[in-house]
Amino acid sequence: MNFDENLLSMLGCPFDPSRPPFEKVGNYLVCRSCEIAFPIVDGIPHLLPESGRPISEIPELNS
Ligand SMILES: [Zn+2]
Repeated sequence: MNFDENLLSMLGCPFDPSRPPFEKVGNYLVCRSCEIAFPIVDGIPHLLPESGRPISEIPELNS
């Protein structure tokens, strides 16, 4: 199952009061405000705080 990119316009990062939009990079939704990436698993973005990882720890997001 693929992530529906139309959802991107409806999602905002829940961890920033300004709800900045996510950017889809590979299998991650990236919040450039928080500098955190959330994995997309089987088409479902995992947006729990414990699912987020710093962008700097994910090599494919730092190329
Ligand atoms: Zn954020």
